[in-house]
Amino acid sequence: MQKNDIITLTIEDMGINGEGIGRYNGMTFFVKDAVVGDVLSARILKIKKTYGYAGIISVLTPSADREKPQCALYRKCGGCQIQPLRYEKQLDLKQKKIFDSLVRIGGFDREEIAGIFAPMVGMDVPYRYRNKAQFPVGTDKNGDPVVGFYAAHSHNIIPVSDCLLGVADNRGIVEAVLAYMKECHVPAYNETTRSGLIRHILIRYGFSTKEIMVCLIINGTKLPFSDSLVSRLALIEGMKSISVNQNRENTNVILGDRTDVIWGQAYITDRIRLWKCGSRIVSDSSDEFSLTDQAVSYHISPQSFYQVNPVQTEKLYSIALDFAGLTGSETVWDLYCGIGTISLFLAGHAREVYGVEIVPQAVADARENARRNGISNASFFCGKAEDILPAFYDRVVQSSVHGEHEDAMLHPDVIVVDPPRKGCDAKCLDTILKMQPQRIVYVSCDPATLARDLKVLCGGGYRLVKGRGVDQFCHTVHVETVVMLSHKKPDSIINVKVEFGEGEGKVPLDNIAKRAAAYKPKERVTYKMIKEYIEAKYGFKVHTAYIAEVKRDLGLPMYDAPNAVEELKQPRKHPTAEKVEAIKDALKHFEVI
Ligand code: SAH
Repeated sequence: MQKNDIITLTIEDMGINGEGIGRYNGMTFFVKDAVVGDVLSARILKIKKTYGYAGIISVLTPSADREKPQCALYRKCGGCQIQPLRYEKQLDLKQKKIFDSLVRIGGFDREEIAGIFAPMVGMDVPYRYRNKAQFPVGTDKNGDPVVGFYAAHSHNIIPVSDCLLGVADNRGIVEAVLAYMKECHVPAYNETTRSGLIRHILIRYGFSTKEIMVCLIINGTKLPFSDSLVSRLALIEGMKSISVNQNRENTNVILGDRTDVIWGQAYITDRIRLWKCGSRIVSDSSDEFSLTDQAVSYHISPQSFYQVNPVQTEKLYSIALDFAGLTGSETVWDLYCGIGTISLFLAGHAREVYGVEIVPQAVADARENARRNGISNASFFCGKAEDILPAFYDRVVQSSVHGEHEDAMLHPDVIVVDPPRKGCDAKCLDTILKMQPQRIVYVSCDPATLARDLKVLCGGGYRLVKGRGVDQFCHTVHVETVVMLSHKKPDSIINVKVEFGEGEGKVPLDNIAKRAAAYKPKERVTYKMIKEYIEAKYGFKVHTAYIAEVKRDLGLPMYDAPNAVEELKQPRKHPTAEKVEAIKDALKHFEVI
């Protein structure tokens, strides 16, 4: 068997990148664009010791699950790896991918997982779902500008102004930009020579508001004849924002740091609605989800992370909220919170929500989104989850006096995480385990890192209770999963009878009480206890800030509240000498000093 040999393959499985897998003479072959159940005539493209790659020459017997791809460019483009697979089978494939990862990487039992996971949430119409498009711009062999998609594994642009995953409005926008470029002789960027101007067209679309944003990414500082572009684009219904982003780096990263609005506003608005769903209803019938009257609205700027499939995002967040099991009294952390999308959903059902996000602009957006929606019980901290959470935990634990508030943050009811593909950092997981929330809700866009992280969490006292896949990325191999873990309760209780006293089989009582007292951990002293002590003994109230000030003066360990304001609205007042003495007395009483 060697390269270029022609073989007949029956496709038995599909791999993580959507490729078909078949066996020939004991060797495993991976075949692009093949569907499980196909019988193919294929040419060997590459051969290794135990496996190889083959390309389809012809489909001898098509699989019953094969469908004609709706997009004519599907094979050239490579964006939709599994479009020829019937949609219901795509969902099965994704469910299998989740289970395989949980079994192989997470060490879970397949049958147990099958019992825990509800069926994948698919789309009724799995096309035209993307609210964001990023078209590269280049030049064809006649020197004319082209807009389209990169061919698979290359930077050659296939001209296309529409994509079946994107909204139909994209076409008119792309055509308007091309017409402007031609008429005003504005050159496309050339990656090799690093000359020319227009690199990408970014389009965002608010599904619920029908608002449109266009951002041109340019290799320069200024867009020439911008009025000509604006006059074309502003005519398009729903156009709200036209901007120019500067990216002069030699990089694959699309957006540069600076964005200037050239027409309209700097953002578009979209709304995400809450659906009633999930654990209460176990069937996968289409009426499983019913719309509630709750919704949160968001401002989205060109740079913000925003889920790309708004139809499915509503389902995803609704399941996450359902899994969180909130009743209104809970303290919740939302790690990797982006522009606060999940946090603001949670806030309507919890006492306090604390979001953590690494991108400063996203944190600013999250705060603004909270304000605009009239949500006052969500606070956001900027930094890495693996820095913010452990630092907060260590500071509070080391401090001998805690407010009730910090106590609640230290031992939250629920922690939600929604990390990027690489999953959670070990330090972050370690701190979650120390904080011991009752429930952890993990939203994941990569089953492999989800499985890795669940292994750590389940090894640390948690148990997988619920799970569900949501198809956010129809026709591609990407998989979104949401699971809920609960803190393990003891499996059973045994009764042990012990007799104290002197004599055989009895446990002597000598000094037990004294030893127990010595080992007893000190009661945690809260600001509330100090206040109550002072009020009872001295008959006056003291403010938390005064207790903090005395602690600071005494050099006792302090921590900054993560939600501390940077600038005080009014100058800090100082406690009177009488109050200082009362606070010192209380600190002595509770053996803090
Ligand atoms: N929950 C949000 C965002 C999820 S995407 C939503 O549904 O819209 C993951 C987010 O994690 C991104 O906003 C990314 O900027 C952020 N992020 C990446 N690494 C991080 C880290 N180490 N700590 C905190 N946030 C991080």
